[in-house]
Amino acid sequence: SERTLVLVKPDGVERGLVGEVIGRIERKGLKLVALELREVGEELAKQHYAEHDGKPFFGSLLEFITSGKVLAAVVEGPRAISAFRQLAGGTDPVDKAAPGSIRGDFGLEVQFNLVHGSDSPESAEREIKLWFPEV
Ligand code: ATP
Repeated sequence: SERTLVLVKPDGVERGLVGEVIGRIERKGLKLVALELREVGEELAKQHYAEHDGKPFFGSLLEFITSGKVLAAVVEGPRAISAFRQLAGGTDPVDKAAPGSIRGDFGLEVQFNLVHGSDSPESAEREIKLWFPEV
């Protein structure tokens, strides 16, 4: 069994898609280990997206992720990292995410792509420590 960090980003929370995302995670058979609706400060945002520091969209990405409440979750199950990335769909909601995925069904723009899921065991470990130091 494996753990991954999932976020419903401010666009998803604002649009009332928290239940939709949690429902899909549960129906897939993955388990919720921790769940919290929270404000994201500048410091946490920078650490979470450290790998994108220096990219042209880094500033607007930080502005976006700190613009409203985020639902953060630790999700567990067999191959949880890949399983959630399959549920999410590709980064670009139109060009990459298939219909039937969260981004494919509800997203239009690459920045406002509703959810985040860790992309490797190393990222998952780092991100879970960052968002849920107590878990
Ligand atoms: P996440 O890390 O949020 O799960 P991802 O792994 O699919 O997404 P990354 O390439 O790591 O995608 O990009 C992180 C986030 O930065 C994306 O989810 C998106 O919100 C934003 N982003 C990525 N590329 C762009 C871009 N070209 N323009 C604006 N925002 C972008």
